[in-house]
Amino acid sequence: MKNKITIRMIILMFIFGLVTVFVETYNARDEGIKNGLKKADAIAEVIKSGLTAHMINGNMNQVNVFLNSISQTTNIDKIWIIRGDNVIKQYGEANELVAPKDAIDDKVIKTGKSQFELSESLFAKAELRVTIPYKAIISKDINCLACHNVNHNDTLGAVSIVLDVTDFKDNGIRNSFIIVLITLLTTMLVVFFINKLINPYIETLEIIKNRIDAASNGVFQNITTLKNKNTPIETKELVEKYNLLTDSLMTTFTDIDNKLKGFVGQVVEVNSQTNPLEEANHIINNLSYIYQFKKEIQLDKTKKEIYQRLGQIFQNQFALRNVNIVEITNNEVAEKVYQLGELDFCTNIILNDPKECRVSRNANSVSSVDFQKACPCFASDDYLYFCIDIEIGQNSKIIFNFILNNKEELNEFKKNQLFIESYIKEVAPEIEVKRLLKALEDSALKDGLTGLYNRRFLDEHLKKLIPQAKREDISIGLLMLDMDHFKAVNDEYGHDIGDKVLVSFAQIVQENIRDSDIAVRFGGEEFLVLLVGIKSEQDAIDVANKIREKVASNEIDVYAGSTMKKTISIGVSMFPQDSTSIVKVMKFADLALYEAKTSGRNQVKRYEENPTDSLELF
Ligand code: GH3
Ligand code: MG
Ligand code: MG
Repeated sequence: MKNKITIRMIILMFIFGLVTVFVETYNARDEGIKNGLKKADAIAEVIKSGLTAHMINGNMNQVNVFLNSISQTTNIDKIWIIRGDNVIKQYGEANELVAPKDAIDDKVIKTGKSQFELSESLFAKAELRVTIPYKAIISKDINCLACHNVNHNDTLGAVSIVLDVTDFKDNGIRNSFIIVLITLLTTMLVVFFINKLINPYIETLEIIKNRIDAASNGVFQNITTLKNKNTPIETKELVEKYNLLTDSLMTTFTDIDNKLKGFVGQVVEVNSQTNPLEEANHIINNLSYIYQFKKEIQLDKTKKEIYQRLGQIFQNQFALRNVNIVEITNNEVAEKVYQLGELDFCTNIILNDPKECRVSRNANSVSSVDFQKACPCFASDDYLYFCIDIEIGQNSKIIFNFILNNKEELNEFKKNQLFIESYIKEVAPEIEVKRLLKALEDSALKDGLTGLYNRRFLDEHLKKLIPQAKREDISIGLLMLDMDHFKAVNDEYGHDIGDKVLVSFAQIVQENIRDSDIAVRFGGEEFLVLLVGIKSEQDAIDVANKIREKVASNEIDVYAGSTMKKTISIGVSMFPQDSTSIVKVMKFADLALYEAKTSGRNQVKRYEENPTDSLELF
């Protein structure tokens, strides 16, 4: 910066000197010409008077002496006179100082106007040649027409004078030299002035400029030393103010950064390499994405939608390719709820036995950062893993199993871990809400004791099932089941044991039908099973017998060491074979059950049409 200013000042001074020299030279030349012309005029006037006097006195033969004496005057190099055509005609060629008549002389004689010519060069003598015409005049002192045979104002002749004007040129050169000298001295003074006075300002400005550059990259540093001892007071004040600003910016940014890091639970790292501005920007961006994500999952209807949205974030924002998500309830039941990518090396084991999951046991993230075999569940040596768990509600948790291709991916994952965990933390309460809603829905449609569907569900479900069965020509086998002498259980062992028997019975029913079949707690200890899509009534009877046998052989703990067995009776009917009205078919199953009871219990009875049925029952 200093050099720039110095160079500019020198260029400015140089231009100033050049212009001054030019103006001075021009002035000196102009002055020389003007003075020469004035002098030539005066001499011409003297010559004219002298010539006239010589003429009148009749001693023209003395003219040359006169002219020679004038030409001896300082700075006059040459004088000559020429006669105009009229005078030559009248008196003949001149015998006075005969001159070599040149083009300028001719021109002056012809035009009657003065001419001058300056011959100049830097090193040779400078000469001003002036040619002035003599005119025929009539005045009270003199009347040219008296002797000359001419008209008034005709050109009689001309005098040419060559003047030495070298003095003027030398003056100009001398002045120019002085100007150059002064300019040079001034330039030196200016350079000195810049060095001495402006330098400290420029140096400080350069330091501040460098610090501002560093600050824009997030490095805030005070200015502690100033090179120049003669630092002016204004510069010191500027530096102090800069330092105050830096301190306050640094404190503010660190504060903002710490607070932002607090949001995502990051440990504050004091590191001169990190740019607090960029860091803050990065955190704010991520917080804003997380906030948006939170708002969106609140609008999602199902858990599936939430997990899919989270999967998209894993994929798009963190470039993760393989993620498995498993929900574990009460450390006993595991359900795989989402998979991103093809890979899965452990969830099958977890689904079998949730207790095998290391992250679920630890309640701390588990990864192959230091030790590949940290989790024995993970059945691959080629891939790395990072597992995170999060609690939902009191007894449930979600396990996130991230599968990574190599160490670089794992390191990248660790860099983003806090943000990934922030998303997971947002998901957990929403998943919990969805689970609670599902439980609430289930409780309205399921029996609280046995977990089977209730009659409300049956009524709703039949509205959809029957038209569909009719459309698709599907048979439904109906089993009406009732415990034999159940009242006796209650009477002998109490209601709690009675309940236990019911739960165990419901479990046997559930285990011996298909997922597509529907088991309903129809009344107190009476159950209805819909065997949807059963092929034949024999198949329905077989299923009924299987259940009956299982129940009959099932031993139930009553109290310490003592067990009991119970039997059931089952009535079977078929839709639409028995009737196209499902209500009727249910009644038929009930009639068959009644038949099974009355004919000895612990047996399965197929409904058979009896003419009295319709009369008694409908
Ligand atoms: P049967 O062989 O004729 O069916 O004889 P039973 O004693 O089973 O007779 P019934 O079917 O009429 O008896 C129903 C009994 O089931 C009456 C009631 O005390 C009992 N019960 C109904 N619901 C429940 C329940 O939720 N828990 C318990 N413990 N008992 C129930
Ligand atoms: Mg009953
Ligand atoms: Mg009964």
